[in-house]
Amino acid sequence: MGVKGYIMQIQPFSVNDGEGIRTNIFMAGCPLRCRWCSNPEGFEQRELVGWYERRCIGCGACAAVCPQGISVDMNADGHESCIACGACVSACPEEARTRMASLMDADDVIKEVHRHRLFYSYSGGGVTFSGGEATSQPEFLDCLSRELYDSGYSIDLESCGYFDFERVRPSLERMDLIFMDLKHMDPELHRKYTGVSNELILENIARLGTLRHPDEGSDSGNGKSPEIVIRIPVIGGVNNSEENIAASAAYVHEVLPEARMELLPYHSLGRIKYEAIGLPFDQEDFYTPDKAEMKKLRSIAAAQGVVIADYR
Ligand code: SF4
Ligand code: SF4
Repeated sequence: MGVKGYIMQIQPFSVNDGEGIRTNIFMAGCPLRCRWCSNPEGFEQRELVGWYERRCIGCGACAAVCPQGISVDMNADGHESCIACGACVSACPEEARTRMASLMDADDVIKEVHRHRLFYSYSGGGVTFSGGEATSQPEFLDCLSRELYDSGYSIDLESCGYFDFERVRPSLERMDLIFMDLKHMDPELHRKYTGVSNELILENIARLGTLRHPDEGSDSGNGKSPEIVIRIPVIGGVNNSEENIAASAAYVHEVLPEARMELLPYHSLGRIKYEAIGLPFDQEDFYTPDKAEMKKLRSIAAAQGVVIADYR
């Protein structure tokens, strides 16, 4: 195929992002900067090596092979001058130095997916494109989704919703299921917490209803529409007001009556990744809504007429 793209991780045996057992392909690069993001290694499209200090035994093997003269403590002097050559990753006996994003050929990604195809067929699973933001590499996504669709795989997409819809329409139309985020109904608060306004995202959510599976080029083409799940990552202190949840659900029900919604509570598990790539972790203001609050918010969304989904 010859098309290359930036991949954070290819994670087999995932069960939370679509039906059955799935392989998640995390594609790097994202136009948003959500302050609660748990995958900061996916902000940029570039190769990236990180350092998990808590795994490190201080043996010095990484520093001994580094062509840039970077010391064991990458956070002290290393992230800017690192060229992601990977020499330290190979030398490290504890996997404390780790590749966090790599440039990969589409053929190699497809080969990796094929390795687990038996699990997909037995479980009704497949492949989910995630990120970062998969649509931020439209050519790579087009190549991968076309190859997998034509091979008969079930393919899903998780997206922040901020993309040029017509540019990625062919990829979107190959999906069985699209998860799209809706983070806040207030454009200024959306900008404050994610770096961009919500206008394009709201427009793209409404456009999802125009998608149809392609009829040509595949035995599985059938003219039906991808299923849609609009996801709200519920961030305590940001978007968990009853008014915002009700307004979000009302909007979704109005523009996409067939769509389901999923509300997922914020978690702070990304902290260790911020440490690994030397970025400050600035999420102290946020909290994880407890089960009772999530239950109440889901019932508020359901009261607007949407069906609540649960893939977690
Ligand atoms: S990836 Fe290469 S340049 Fe970066 S710290 Fe490791 S050995 Fe040095
Ligand atoms: S090679 Fe790995 S374990 Fe040894 S000092 Fe470097 S990061 Fe730590």
